Amino acid sequence: MGKTKVGIMGIAGFMGRMIAKQVHENPEAEISGGTVLRGSAEEGVEIAALCQLEGVTVKTVSDPRAVISSSDVVIDFTLPAVTVEHARIASECGTAFVAGTTGLTPEQEAALADAAKNIPLVYAPNMSLGVNLLFDLVKKGAGALSDDFDIEIVEMHHKRKIDAPSGTALGLGKAAAEGRGVSLDDKGVLSREGVTGAREAGQIGFATLRGGDVVGEHTVIFAGPNERIELTHKATSRDIFAAGAVRAGIWAAGRKPGLYSMADVLGL
Ligand code: NAD
Repeated sequence: MGKTKVGIMGIAGFMGRMIAKQVHENPEAEISGGTVLRGSAEEGVEIAALCQLEGVTVKTVSDPRAVISSSDVVIDFTLPAVTVEHARIASECGTAFVAGTTGLTPEQEAALADAAKNIPLVYAPNMSLGVNLLFDLVKKGAGALSDDFDIEIVEMHHKRKIDAPSGTALGLGKAAAEGRGVSLDDKGVLSREGVTGAREAGQIGFATLRGGDVVGEHTVIFAGPNERIELTHKATSRDIFAAGAVRAGIWAAGRKPGLYSMADVLGL
């Protein structure tokens, strides 16, 4: 079987460059193209030079359709509205899609689900093995513990991050809500300020920290009477997200249409 042709949307970004490196190093995959912002300094540049990779002969382009139509799968870590538009084009071209962008509104998530009617589409706020295992542990913990245990989720990321709470923190909140058989929309408290009154039983609280170059840290606290359980994941390199995204891309190419999660990809 030939190599999987992987297109990288937003190849000049932090994640885009790492994904390019990992695709290039993967014997099962090859870079079929990469997009950058129209009019940016990276437009029309050799991907080899942009990402410091030897032997890649393609140049970056700003036309998403050109890359999507010539790839088996595209991996997209850009901006919510951009990812949704790229997924729409991918569904027209029949190209598998991996969406790693976070901060999507419910409407934008619905648009991804719509695209997934025609193509295999993996959408995951966090592509690391450890965090996806944590989702499962949190769901189990929340299901086993009663409302006497208050659930609080604390996350910290680098100062460039533009959305809060992180997509991963919201994913952990969703896992906790599922474990309890409730909805995060009803029980989630995404931030607190001023005279909030006492904490209501059953709430799922969030606290967001931003600073420095922290790659991503998440702790889910179950605070009960006289005891407390804390489940923590710390990412020390973005490599884990890029590795997960490439694995998801190779897994998705050629699969039947549908909306998939990293749990599907990892077989968790
Ligand atoms: P970044 O700002 O470094 O990269 C985004 C890139 O997208 C930029 O280079 C920007 O120019 C480019 N871009 C924007 N619009 C474009 C367009 N129309 N065409 C082509 N390129 C376009 O950000 P980042 O740190 O790489 O993160 C990107 C996204 O990935 C964020 O939403 C972040 O939260 C998310 N993320 C997800 C995971 C995960 O595991 N799912 C892990 C890390 C980051």
